[in-house]
Amino acid sequence: MLAPNLETAIDGLRHLVENSDAVLPFTGAGISTECGIPDFRSPGGIWSRMQPIPFEAFVASQEMRDEAWRRRFAMEDEFKGARPGRGHLALASLYKAGKSPGVITQNIDNLHQESGIAPADVVELHGNTTYALCLTCAARYELPWVRQKFEAEGRAPDCHCGGYIKTATVSFGQAMPEAAMARAEELTLTCDLFLAIGSSLVVWPAAGFPMLAKRNGARLVIVNREPTEFDDMADLVVREDIGTVLEPFIAGRA
Ligand SMILES: [Zn+2]
Repeated sequence: MLAPNLETAIDGLRHLVENSDAVLPFTGAGISTECGIPDFRSPGGIWSRMQPIPFEAFVASQEMRDEAWRRRFAMEDEFKGARPGRGHLALASLYKAGKSPGVITQNIDNLHQESGIAPADVVELHGNTTYALCLTCAARYELPWVRQKFEAEGRAPDCHCGGYIKTATVSFGQAMPEAAMARAEELTLTCDLFLAIGSSLVVWPAAGFPMLAKRNGARLVIVNREPTEFDDMADLVVREDIGTVLEPFIAGRA
């Protein structure tokens, strides 16, 4: 059912949340746009102007690794200083109230963690761009350290083990993180309300989760600016601004 206006959308969502024991939000880029984080895949987004560097190319050449890091540092200003938006704060409120076990996200911006959801309860399907990992030994590196080395030596630094250091994101062509996928599936199968927020639900594996939840008996809500191919099976479809729809769910603002 498509909510005809904002008021109906908020009322419908409130009713579903109140009658649910386990609300599972699944978020995409749309929840972070009001925080100043660009939607990389949208028209005009970074990835429509610049070809992404596939994983295979990253591991194959120093030149590509240098380019990947050059781009990441160029993006730094867009990520640095971004604060959780109304959507993040609303979901953190549901989490802190015990209504929600955590969140599944396609975002790599760390804003769910910054809004107060424990890192262990943020399931990141595409990883996280706010820190880096060695591809061989999984040692963690912070970005300021990588940048300092990069600028001092003019090339992307390697790990002390000799492995390549890459942001903790999942690149095109890189295997999906198995533990995150398993946890996402487990959460999906134990929720009774699945909230898809700000995702076009076209990128695999995102597309599988709302259907899995619905088939398992959960209610499905889709909050997205554009129609998705799952709108027909949803109990509630909302095409209003995400922050505005979720703001009343921020603790203390209802
Ligand atoms: Zn290493």
